[in-house]
Amino acid sequence: MSDSLPALLKQTFGYDSFRPLQREIMDATLANRDVVAILPTGAGKSLCFQLPALAREGVTLVISPLIALMKDQVDALVASGVAATFINSSLDGSEAARRRSGLEHGQYKLLYAAPERVMMESFIADLQRWNVTAIAVDEAHCISEWGHDFRPEYRMLAQLRDALPGVPFLALTATATEQVRGDIIRQLHLHEPEVFLASFNRPNLSYTIVPKSKSTRQVYDFIRQRPEEAGIVYVQSRKSAESLAAALSAEGVKAVAYHAGLQPEERVANQEAFIRDEAHVVCATVAFGMGINKPDVRYVIHADLPKNVEGYYQETGRAGRDSLPSECVLLYSRGDLVRNLKFLDEMTDAKAAEIAAQQMRTMAEFAESTDCRRVALLDYFGEQWPGDNCGGCDICLQPRETWDATTHAQKLLSCIIRIRQKSGFATGLNHIVEVLAGANTEKIRKWYHDQLTTYGIGKDTPREEWLALGRQLIRLGYIDASADNFQTLTLSKQGTAALLNRTPIILTRTPAVASTSTAKVAKAGSIACDEALFAELRTLRKQLADERGVPPYVVFGDTSLRHMCRSYPQSDRDFLAIPGVGGQKLTDYGQPFMQAIGEWLSSHEKQTFRDEAPPPPPPKMKSENGMGGTVLETLRLFRQGLSAERIAAQRSLVISTIHNHLAQAIAAGELQADPSDYFSAEEEADLRAAAAEHGLESLSKLKEALGDRFDYPTLHYFRAFETRQS
Ligand code: ADP
Ligand code: MG
Ligand code: ZN
Repeated sequence: MSDSLPALLKQTFGYDSFRPLQREIMDATLANRDVVAILPTGAGKSLCFQLPALAREGVTLVISPLIALMKDQVDALVASGVAATFINSSLDGSEAARRRSGLEHGQYKLLYAAPERVMMESFIADLQRWNVTAIAVDEAHCISEWGHDFRPEYRMLAQLRDALPGVPFLALTATATEQVRGDIIRQLHLHEPEVFLASFNRPNLSYTIVPKSKSTRQVYDFIRQRPEEAGIVYVQSRKSAESLAAALSAEGVKAVAYHAGLQPEERVANQEAFIRDEAHVVCATVAFGMGINKPDVRYVIHADLPKNVEGYYQETGRAGRDSLPSECVLLYSRGDLVRNLKFLDEMTDAKAAEIAAQQMRTMAEFAESTDCRRVALLDYFGEQWPGDNCGGCDICLQPRETWDATTHAQKLLSCIIRIRQKSGFATGLNHIVEVLAGANTEKIRKWYHDQLTTYGIGKDTPREEWLALGRQLIRLGYIDASADNFQTLTLSKQGTAALLNRTPIILTRTPAVASTSTAKVAKAGSIACDEALFAELRTLRKQLADERGVPPYVVFGDTSLRHMCRSYPQSDRDFLAIPGVGGQKLTDYGQPFMQAIGEWLSSHEKQTFRDEAPPPPPPKMKSENGMGGTVLETLRLFRQGLSAERIAAQRSLVISTIHNHLAQAIAAGELQADPSDYFSAEEEADLRAAAAEHGLESLSKLKEALGDRFDYPTLHYFRAFETRQS
C-alpha cells in the first residue's frame, strides 16, 4: 500500500516529493497505528490523511471543526480528481440523499463531517455500514481545554472507538504544548500512538518589528508597495478593525473588516471576499483566522501589540502556508503594553490577571529585544536555532553596529542609585530618563530630583536612546525591574559591580527608525518568474475559479503559477511537470493556461531564470534491515560529521527525532557507538535493573520506574544498545 504513495502523490496532487514527516506519518497510519502529528501551520498536514485514504480500501472519515474548512478542502480534493464529499447542515435534502447513496455504494474515499454530526446516533450506524477504514481528527487541539479553541463535542469522539473497533485514528494539530498533546491522546483513547513532532520553524516567514508611530499611515505605506497581494492586519479592538478598514478603503485599498461583533452574514461575506481574492486585506481582531486555509497570505501585520507570544506565533503563522516568502511585521510601541496592562485592572481573577500580565511583558520583551526574532520565537517552544544568523528577521538582516556604551551606562546606573539614596524608593525607567535629560516635570520638582548630581547629565543624548539603553541594560541583567505594573528599577549585583569597576559595556545600537521601511526580507523558498505573465495568469485563475464557484487557490496555488511563468509549458508533458499539476488538473485547466501562455509568447520574449540549487533527492525508501529512508538520511549526515542539532535544523525535525533515528541505527548495527558516551557504568546498571523488571517495550514505563532520572533520548539509546544486532 505504502509503496504506491509517491506515484499517487504525483498523479493526483502533482507533487514530486514529501515534506518533512509526511511520509513517516503516512507509513504509520497505513500500518494501522494510532498517530498524533504535530506540525506547524502550512506543513501539509492534510496530505497526511488524504493520500493514505487513496491508498487504502474503504473510506476515511475526516473530523473537521468548521463547515467552511470542510467545503474548501473538499473543493480542492475534487479539483484534483479525488472522490471526496462532506455531509453537514448546509446541504438540502436531495443533495444529502445523493451523497448518502454514494457512501452506501462505496463511491467516496474521503468523508468530511463535524463532530456534532458524527456523534448523532443514526450517523454512527451509517458509518458502521460505510466501510470506514481510518479516522482523521483535524485541528485535534479542539479537544483540549488548554487549546485556544476548545470544542466540547470533540470529547465525544472516543465513542467512535467502540462503534468502529480496529479503525486507526490520526490526530493532527499545530498546537505543540505537552498539555494539549496529552489531552489528545487521553481523550481520543489513542492506543500506543506514534507521535510525530516537527520543528516549529517557518523558514519562509520573515519577522520584522518596527517602532510604531502613526500606525494607519505605516500600514498603508506597507500595503501600497504590495498592491496585488493578500494580507491580514491584526488590531486590538473591533472599533480599530472597522476604522482601519475604512481608512484603507478610502485610499483605494480593497480592505474589509472582520471581528466577532459583525452580523454573521457580513462576517461570512467579508471572509469569502478575502478567500476569493476580491478583498486584498482583512483588518481583523484575533477572532479571524481559524478556518482560513488561504495558502497565499503574503503578509501579516500586527498594528497593535499581541497579548502573548503564542498568539503572535499563531497569527503570523497564517502567512505563507504555500511556502512562498511571506512577511510578518509588528508595529511596536511601549504604550501598547501599558494600555494592555491597564485593561487587566478590570479582571476580577487576580491570579489570571497576573498570568496575563506576565505574558504581556514577555511579548513586550520579545519586541524590544535586539536578538534574532526566530531564535526568540523558537526558544519559546523549547527549540534551539543553530547557527548565528537566521537570514530572515530584521535583526539578522540589518546587523546593528556595536558601540562602547560604558560611559552612558555609568550615567544611567548611577542615576538609579542617586534617586534611591535621595528618596528612599525606586522609580521607573521613564522618570530616570527625565532626570538624565534635565526635564522639568512635576515629579522631579516634588521629589527635588533636580538637585541630584545626575540631573541633566544626559542632555546631549535623545530620550529614545536613553530608553533603549535602559531596556538593554535590563535585558542584560545590569538592572532589575520589579515584577509589578510599576516596573521600578534597581541595580542588580552585576550592575553594581559594573558601576564600581567601570566594566566596559558594549551594546548594539538600535537605529533611529522613523520609517516603516521593513528590512529586505528573506527569500527562503522564493521562485523567480516572469512577473508580468504571473499577473496575467492570476487574472485567468480568478476567472476560472469564479466560473466554478471555488476559491482561486483551488484552481492553482501561487507556486504552480510561478513555475508556469518560469518554464512556459506548451505541451501536456511540460504542463504535468509543474508542481501541483496532477492528471485531473491537466484535463481541466491545461488547455486554458497553455493557451494563455502561448498567446503571451506571441508578443513577449521568454525570460530565463538561473536555476536555484535543486532540492536534495528524496531519500531511498527502505534499506535491507528495515530502516526507513528518513533514518538513513540522518545517518548519512551524521557520518559527514554533523551534530544531532545541526541535522535537526537542516531537516526541519526536532532533536528528539534525530536521537531516535540514531538509536535506530545503533540497534540495526549500522552505527558503531560506545555506551559509555551515553551513560555511566552506574547508570547502566540502574537501567538494566529497571529493564529486567519492566521490559523494554514501553519506555514511558521505564522512565517512570527510574523516577524520571533519564530523558527519552537516553532511554532510546539504552534500548538500542540492549537490542543491537551485531
Ligand atoms: P496544514 O494543515 O499543516 O496547515 P495544509 O495541509 O493546509 O497545511 O497544506 C499547506 C499547503 O502545502 C497546501 O497548499 C498544500 O497543497 C501544500 N503541500 C502539502 N504537501 C505538499 C508537498 N508534499 N509538496 C508540495 N506542496 C505540498
Ligand atoms: Mg490543516
Ligand atoms: Zn534572525
